[in-house]
Amino acid sequence: MNIIIFGPPGAGKGTQSKFIVEKYNLYQLSTGELLRNEIKKETVLGSQISSIINSGELVSDEIVSKLIQNFISDQKYKEKLIFDGYPRNLNQAINLDNLLKQSNQKINLVLNLSVSLETIKKRISERQYQEKRSDDNEETAIKRFKTYEKTTKPLIEYYKNSNLLKEVNGESTINEINIKISGLIDSIKGWQ
Ligand code: AMP
Repeated sequence: MNIIIFGPPGAGKGTQSKFIVEKYNLYQLSTGELLRNEIKKETVLGSQISSIINSGELVSDEIVSKLIQNFISDQKYKEKLIFDGYPRNLNQAINLDNLLKQSNQKINLVLNLSVSLETIKKRISERQYQEKRSDDNEETAIKRFKTYEKTTKPLIEYYKNSNLLKEVNGESTINEINIKISGLIDSIKGWQ
């Protein structure tokens, strides 16, 4: 079972991914977290990534693709990945399909967590104090939301065409969303 979890910044992708990982014994592949780890290494690449993330734009497809490749080809993670924050544009979606094909895998479920901009602003200002992410300020959050609307949201159509997409109301409580997602995962044929 490979799952993609979609949603604007602050939709709860990370929180829900962690829950799915625990309950279903999967691995979370968060490109945002991998990028933040790269920044912590204080390399030249890390500082370039940092300015892009803080501007609310997307890091280049090449950089992000390199970060995920090893996970996809690793037997340990085979058919056990939850993609949190990847793909974020059409090129990445096609790249992901190709990488999965090369190792005889596919996506089984795409979850779309939808939330309003008002809720996002509220959640991000709360998260600012807990996680201290440099891109969790209102100005960057709005830019990230715009990047999502313009570049990532169109991908929903791409996955709708393959019948993998399931809508989840991201305005509900964490627990309600957990229950909804569990139901969707459990309903996939052949998955126990
Ligand atoms: P996230 O933790 O998923 O909210 O990601 C934080 C930031 O990392 C995003 O706003 C982007 O700048 C960058 N990022 C994460 N995933 C990707 C991706 N798949 N492609 C390009 N940039 C990404």
